[in-house]
Amino acid sequence: VAKNQGGNRYHFFDGRMHEAVIQRLQVENDLRKALERNEFQLHYQPQVDLTDNRVVAMEALIRWNHPERGRIPPDRFISIAEECRLIIPIGRWVLQEACRQAKLWQDQGLDPIRVAVNVSAVQFTETDFAETVRQVLQETGLEARWLEVEITETVVMKDQEVVRSNLKKLKDLGVFTTLDDFGTGYSSITYLRQMPLDGIKIDKSFIRDLETAAPSDESKNAGLVKAFVNLAANLHLSLVAEGIETEDQRRFLLQLGCSRGQGFLFNPPVPAEEATALLRSKG
Ligand code: C2E
Ligand code: MG
Ligand code: MG
Ligand code: MG
Repeated sequence: VAKNQGGNRYHFFDGRMHEAVIQRLQVENDLRKALERNEFQLHYQPQVDLTDNRVVAMEALIRWNHPERGRIPPDRFISIAEECRLIIPIGRWVLQEACRQAKLWQDQGLDPIRVAVNVSAVQFTETDFAETVRQVLQETGLEARWLEVEITETVVMKDQEVVRSNLKKLKDLGVFTTLDDFGTGYSSITYLRQMPLDGIKIDKSFIRDLETAAPSDESKNAGLVKAFVNLAANLHLSLVAEGIETEDQRRFLLQLGCSRGQGFLFNPPVPAEEATALLRSKG
């Protein structure tokens, strides 16, 4: 399955090379100013209990409102921010903002839920990442157990020792850690067993076509999801399915033993105010 990020990157260098290089430099240049100009915003997408649609967590997803070019999706700028290491200050801002919001929700009397933050491989392989998290929790007053850190398999494949050490430090702090986009990378089961993670998120590419999954050759996704359910149970990991778009997919996931999910069926990512309203109505 061709992945979005890879696809975009390919597209980016595809065709008119010169223009693409200029454009990339422009993005990098603009990224440098975006933080101080307050152009970033977080949207929130609920993670729900598939049995009753109850919101169990909120995932923070960054949005860049470019003054001239409008909304630029993360798939278009995160990899550039990683290459020029701007992801470090941007990522810190995301952490700070998400923790501030989660604490605010609690202060407003809403039932406490976890806020999940996506952390790039570049951030996560910094030796002081856990210290940054500790500082942010202290500054915002959010208890560690309400923070979830999502990393991808690319992280796990990087500097194994630093990654394991950072996961351990986060665990000691009480932060919940998950492996995002599970199944799309190349992390082995041995790796998974060795890393002190709390959960995995099944990538949306496995959820697609799930409802049409009679045990035929065309749709192996049902079998794979079942395998992920067993894997998570055996390794004592929590399990979330992302990219649920239809009622049939929801039902099918429940049948397969996956009881948590995220997707357009329930809610798209929305700005903080809308997320607050959502929590008020079905928290
Ligand atoms: P992700 O963490 O796997 O997030 C899920 C993506 O799927 C989000 O795209 C979300 O809007 C989208 N999505 C949610 N439900 C559905 C659905 O039912 N169907 C489909 N087709 N898509 C759905 P988004 O917001 O464009 O983010 C894309 C990726 O960018 C994220 O994937 C994550 O890897 C990265 N990203 C987003 N925010 C941050 C951030 O603050 N820091 C870092 N380092 N990466 C981020
Ligand atoms: Mg994520
Ligand atoms: Mg994902
Ligand atoms: Mg993704």
